[in-house]
Amino acid sequence: MTATDAGPAAGLAAFIAKESARFLARQPRSRELVERSRSVLAGGATSSWQIAEPQAVWISHGAGSRIFDVDGTEYSDFHGGYGVGLAGHAHPAIVAAVRDRVGRGTHFAQPTEDAVVVADELARRWGLPLWRFANSGTEATMDAVHLMRAATGRDRILKVEGCYHGHHDSVQVSVMPDPDEMGPAEAPRSVASQAGIPAAVVGLVDVVPFNDLAAVERVLAARPGEIAGMILEPLMMNAGVIHPEPGYLAGLRTLLHAHGVLLAFDEVKTGLTVGPGGVTGLSGVTPDLVCLAKAIGGGISTAALGGTAEVMGLIADGTYEQVGTFNGNPLAMAAARAMLTDVATDAAYAHLEHLRHRLATGIEEVIAAHDLPWHVVTAGAKGCIAFRADPIRDYRDFLEVDDDLGHAHWLVQHNGGVFLPPWGKIEQWLISVQHTDEDVDRFLANVETLADAVAGA
Ligand code: PLP
Repeated sequence: MTATDAGPAAGLAAFIAKESARFLARQPRSRELVERSRSVLAGGATSSWQIAEPQAVWISHGAGSRIFDVDGTEYSDFHGGYGVGLAGHAHPAIVAAVRDRVGRGTHFAQPTEDAVVVADELARRWGLPLWRFANSGTEATMDAVHLMRAATGRDRILKVEGCYHGHHDSVQVSVMPDPDEMGPAEAPRSVASQAGIPAAVVGLVDVVPFNDLAAVERVLAARPGEIAGMILEPLMMNAGVIHPEPGYLAGLRTLLHAHGVLLAFDEVKTGLTVGPGGVTGLSGVTPDLVCLAKAIGGGISTAALGGTAEVMGLIADGTYEQVGTFNGNPLAMAAARAMLTDVATDAAYAHLEHLRHRLATGIEEVIAAHDLPWHVVTAGAKGCIAFRADPIRDYRDFLEVDDDLGHAHWLVQHNGGVFLPPWGKIEQWLISVQHTDEDVDRFLANVETLADAVAGA
């Protein structure tokens, strides 16, 4: 059973309807809270990306690899709060660090010693000497874009079609462009990603496909001396999981630098999750700037911006004022310190690799046994099932992936006690350091249920 542009095939549609009904029947309390909250929370949630189909799931608490919804149902948490939860829930090292800090005051808008330890550790892992902090991935990428403009005296930036970098104006361009609007593959159009993004800002952004150096070269040739920098997820994670092809990142750095253009890696998602030093560490390609957030705070909101002495020197000398009341907040710094020194250790990465391997090979076995045209893509603790046979190289390939299978997968996993991000094919799983083989077994059993249904229909 496969989907068409007109919607899912009858068998898949019936399966989704059945799983949706089970989903709703299991969650009356969430339903009540959605309804009750609508009068005070716009859309009945605290972020638009918490609104899921068939309904948002309200959570009570988490412990280790598990979370519990308000109806009392327990799940193995592979959602990880959109990529934050590498530590799992209530990790003892994070709890101890936060508890200690809470008792000694949580905010002064003055630096605390933990910030130096965190910056030292990030410098060691990412090979970039100077750091600053912010509170979200959006703030980190916004500062990166500002800095690239400040350093070069140029206004234009280059971004990759299908990459998400948060919700500030300059990067809200061609994030998930509609096929009708996105223009030809060799010259993608820059498309505003949502309402409220000025056309003038969109007009300052050039868009290229991922894994395509020739496209970058074309833009650089067409706009000599105009482009300040390029920002990209060096391993795409807002369109499933798409690896950079060999030589792409190194080629990009060489090409951009030859034109006086800076390179910023958005490692907000890949950060600690793909390995101890992110894609930068795995690839050996060090950008001019790197943006981190999500997992580095161990569950407390924080972000970091690291860079070369040359670029970050513009902050040091006052050319660019990188500011924020909560930057380097003591509570966040205490949690980040524990995350870096006690949680994201070599032993933790060995454990994550064991689970990654079991999960990937287990799913591949199910796919092979059912002769399905799917494949698995992983990157450290992150991964996804790509519901098509051919590899995915960029956003346009990703568009070919069946949305309905992604949605069916989320429902089956949810009803089978595994919490995945509620955006089907777009998001990936995250394994935490507190996950066990039992969590992986649950996940695999649910994939088997989906495969049985799809192959048998
Ligand atoms: N960059 C990437 C790659 C992301 O995936 C996200 C969020 O999902 C962001 C930036 C924005 O981070 P935040 O939601 O913390 O602002």
